[in-house]
Amino acid sequence: MAEYAANIGLEVHAELSTKTKVFCGCSTAAGGPPNTQVCPVCLGFPGSLPVLNRAVVDYALRVALAFNCKISRPSIFERKGYYYPDLPKNFQISQKRAPLGHSGYVEFPVDGDLHRVRIADIHIEEDAAKLIHPEEDPAHSLVDFNRAGMPLLEIVSEPDMHSAAQVEAYMNAIRSALLYLGVSEARMEQGQLRFEASVSVRPADREELGTRVEIKNLNSFRAVLGAVEYEIARQTKAVRAGETIVQETRLWDDAREVTAPMRTKETAMDYRYFPEPDLMPLVVDDEWIARVRAELPELAGQRRERLVREYQLSDYDAGILTAEKALADLFEAAVSRGAPAKPVANWLTGRFLYLLNERGATAAEAALTPESLAELVNLVESNTISGPAARQVFDRIAFSRESPKQVVAELGLTQISDQDELAATIDEVISEHADAVENYRKGKETALKFLVGQVMRKTRGRANPKLVRRLGSDGPRRGDCPQYQVVSPATAGGLP
Ligand SMILES: [Zn+2]
Repeated sequence: MAEYAANIGLEVHAELSTKTKVFCGCSTAAGGPPNTQVCPVCLGFPGSLPVLNRAVVDYALRVALAFNCKISRPSIFERKGYYYPDLPKNFQISQKRAPLGHSGYVEFPVDGDLHRVRIADIHIEEDAAKLIHPEEDPAHSLVDFNRAGMPLLEIVSEPDMHSAAQVEAYMNAIRSALLYLGVSEARMEQGQLRFEASVSVRPADREELGTRVEIKNLNSFRAVLGAVEYEIARQTKAVRAGETIVQETRLWDDAREVTAPMRTKETAMDYRYFPEPDLMPLVVDDEWIARVRAELPELAGQRRERLVREYQLSDYDAGILTAEKALADLFEAAVSRGAPAKPVANWLTGRFLYLLNERGATAAEAALTPESLAELVNLVESNTISGPAARQVFDRIAFSRESPKQVVAELGLTQISDQDELAATIDEVISEHADAVENYRKGKETALKFLVGQVMRKTRGRANPKLVRRLGSDGPRRGDCPQYQVVSPATAGGLP
């Protein structure tokens, strides 16, 4: 057992995808010119009054119920006071003492085991405006109030994670749930998901947590993982040297990959929380909760279990497929069009993820349709095209709307399953690679693989590999193919 243990907690800020802002009717659409989606409420004009957006409560309830939270009745909106140029009212409307949801948990697989992280609270708040610091004019900063009043959901975990791997799995589980629940687009590059981490280190044999350090400015999974690993190492070194850890907030520096002190930790007192007098306490009645609960979609974990049960997939394959909703949707839609499950899963978890990774794209952004995937799988199953040819076709249909049959015709990839046609090619390969033939004759199975590979190469992947292998090794048992006797161990006295 390691000498020291870390406790990591995470706050996730997720921008909700409702059509309008949380306390006014301004649009939340992305990409509008700066300061065009604003009104007196989100600009913080004196005398303007906030009105709670019902859809925001609906979305927040979905998440709270999906994460097994208790629902506060009432939950209370409070003013969190601080002064900053991006905050027109000088306070942010948030929830602290009575958040909408509390005392829940989320479970997700890490290295084959189910890990549970307790959710301390889930609450609704408004976003601040966006500050822009133009490089060409360092003397000025610009403010875009389109973001002011955007609906945010803050999900606060207990410090139940102990490694970067657990933190990564947790972030994936949260992001996946937000997408499955349809409450956020969760696009990191657009700042729709932001994080704050707290990290403490203690001697492994002690229960009591060490002094916690908070880390801000985490806008990507990479930043969170880098900061967590950096802090665990820094604090472990300090604790080992007998130093005292200062309770403070640190900033992650993405370029230098270090954390640096920002300020000593503020306390709740510093924010002067008090109930927002312009909003009534929020009471969600039984009927509302029952309706949202009944409409909860199947989540990644439940879907993973169902895919294993219904399609006899491995836990591993089902886990990869359900990690991204669009991927699992493709899988089920292709299978429902008559393609066998296992090959469909193999294409998606193998070649498709490889290609997506190469392009930095998501499954939702590719052009692959369930129709074309099912068609391709069936072309292979019916031996119309070989495995290597199918890969060429797949690479095309993954990012275009072409039909597999079209691509096969265009590239001339129809599989050669005709024995006479293959015989000539096999003869060529045998005469060109006498040493490999000799090795196979001595019982070296890899030599056969090599020879089959040469035939595939000569036919540009069009040969039916099963047939090539059979013609090559079992040939002599077929009276019609005497020319293959030379590669057969049977005629050379059999395998040793
Ligand atoms: Zn507004």
